[in-house]
Amino acid sequence: MVVPLVVQDLPPPADVSAFETSACAEKMILYTPTRFPEQSVFFDLGIVGTVKVHHLNCGTMVMGMVDHCLLIETADCLVLVDTGFGLNCVRDPARVLGWSRHVTRPRLAERDTAIRQVAALGYDPADVRHILLTHLDYDHAGGLADFPWATVHVREPEFHAASNPTLAERPRYRPQQWAHGPKWAMSSATGGENWFGFQAVRELPGLPAEFLVVPLVGHTRGHAGVAVDTGAGWLLHAGDAFLSDVEIRRNTMAVGVIGRVRGAMGSLPKTYVENVARLAELHRAHGAEMTIFASHDAAAFERLR
Ligand SMILES: [Zn+2]
Repeated sequence: MVVPLVVQDLPPPADVSAFETSACAEKMILYTPTRFPEQSVFFDLGIVGTVKVHHLNCGTMVMGMVDHCLLIETADCLVLVDTGFGLNCVRDPARVLGWSRHVTRPRLAERDTAIRQVAALGYDPADVRHILLTHLDYDHAGGLADFPWATVHVREPEFHAASNPTLAERPRYRPQQWAHGPKWAMSSATGGENWFGFQAVRELPGLPAEFLVVPLVGHTRGHAGVAVDTGAGWLLHAGDAFLSDVEIRRNTMAVGVIGRVRGAMGSLPKTYVENVARLAELHRAHGAEMTIFASHDAAAFERLR
């Protein structure tokens, strides 16, 4: 009979391959050494099963599109996934957003900014210590300047694209939004591990293993999704990898309003189309254990908030 020794406040063993993880309750997991089962030990996993997720709409745009961001409370800090439109966008839209704001037509209000919503939920904005960005488009990076102390995680190809935009890319990136000089933490273009058949970057500096960056190139050169293990299933914020979850439920890209948006966007990159098909397959195979949503899908936001 295995009588485990309970050890609190220790990280999991360095080499977990030598153990069987045979029990998990609340924050604890039982590691059983395969050769010496009597030495089983409970390890405190810290935040596993304890992350709290808030869904925020940080800016409503043309055709009712929302700007779906996540605020995640971990054991020791707050994490934002995307930032929507920030205070500078509200106060000085011509300078911070440029002319393309007339295309997306955001309804700009301070109460919709992430920093105001963080405070309204009773949190201290200073506790937002990490921001994960799906990409650097101005409707996703607009709130960066409101959290200048936070480490900003972005994929290196996305940072490179935003720093060296082509003529066509210039309207989408607004360097004014990161002129304060964020603490960037860039994940490399290659490497990572397999996550449900997708390449994923797990080792994000300062963040626990529950957070993964999943490259989903197409909408922009370095676009990514952010996956979070909530303890009650995976949540995949797919950014702008698709527009409506109708697309991944039916694997079709032209439905009503969505089709008109697609038309306005012009021809879609091959990688974008491929990733929608991959996400549709991910939803088909793992939809029961995973929630996938896109940034601007108002129906998904209403369902999840
Ligand atoms: Zn967007």
